Amino acid sequence: DATIRQIAAGEVVERPASVVKELVENSLDADASRVSVAVENGGKDGIRVRDDGKGMTESNLERAVEKHTTSKIRDISDLDAGVGTLGFRGEALHTVGAVSRLTVRSKPRNGGAGGASGTAGAGAELTVEGGDSGELRPAGCPAGTTVEVDDLFFNTPARKKFLKTDPTEFDHVNTVVTQYALANPDVAISLEHNGREVFATEGNGDLPSAVLSVYGREVAEAMVHVDFEATGPGPVQSVSGVVSHPETTRAGREYLSTFVNDRYVTAATLREGVLDAYGGQLAPDRYPFAVLFVEVEPDAVDVNVHPRKMEVRFDDESSAKRAVTDAVEEALLDHGL
Ligand code: ADP
Ligand code: MG
Repeated sequence: DATIRQIAAGEVVERPASVVKELVENSLDADASRVSVAVENGGKDGIRVRDDGKGMTESNLERAVEKHTTSKIRDISDLDAGVGTLGFRGEALHTVGAVSRLTVRSKPRNGGAGGASGTAGAGAELTVEGGDSGELRPAGCPAGTTVEVDDLFFNTPARKKFLKTDPTEFDHVNTVVTQYALANPDVAISLEHNGREVFATEGNGDLPSAVLSVYGREVAEAMVHVDFEATGPGPVQSVSGVVSHPETTRAGREYLSTFVNDRYVTAATLREGVLDAYGGQLAPDRYPFAVLFVEVEPDAVDVNVHPRKMEVRFDDESSAKRAVTDAVEEALLDHGL
């Protein structure tokens, strides 16, 4: 039933940034080496994610937007390793299609989409409007996939009313794409807003290069390397990445990015662990830049049950925090900071 479908979709697709997150994740899952994100007016009026990933055949394409009945979350194990995904495995495209005008255009890497339209060598395109799928059509396109989401929440006005201003919605989009760009320096990831490039990473596998592309030269030059193997007891095995000099800070904590087992997470424990390492060196209400990859034993970490959140909790919070502090302290000391 369409109404229930829309309500359910509204629960998981909160705002343009949630759509962007799912689409970028799909592109990375498809083994893309380039992912380009372009949004209009904070994403409210248009979202386009284009990749050069493995693409989809015509039948894949049709299946991709269908409802998958086996994907309801029942317990935490159903979340996959999915820290921070919608949590509904196989549901993202379907869910987005229920509350927008969705177009997916794709061509497999190895030749055309083939199949029903008899257009081997070309790609194919499928549009879904408010949950209604159109016909598969041939479409000229490069290998890979382009997903366009227009008029998000056009059929769910209550949800649409909750959206904030364009700049605020864009901030959320920017935060999401930034996290993926920092977590995947081997992929060239770019972001455009209203036709203007916001950033574009090289995709050369180098974290400092990704930091430079995303945050600019001043910040990149103020970064020091963290490379720490934990020896003590506790869930953390290693901490690596970069953190900024104590005087290179911002007012917002969104520049403090932490990844647990390569997933972006927010965790007060990790954030406080970083801040503790700076001791009294930070000005009040200022946060350093950090991009930290924390490896932990999978059993020692809990994902918040809400699929929209990216929060994690550790069995042993104080050990986790201490490991991060030790790692960052060591890095700062190494640089006489
Ligand atoms: P999930 O990612 O959990 O499988 P989605 O609804 O996000 O569910 O995507 C459904 C399916 O569509 C994916 O499993 C994949 O086969 C295909 N797909 C989606 N996006 C892409 C993409 N960018 N490139 C290739 N295949 C894709
Ligand atoms: Mg997905």
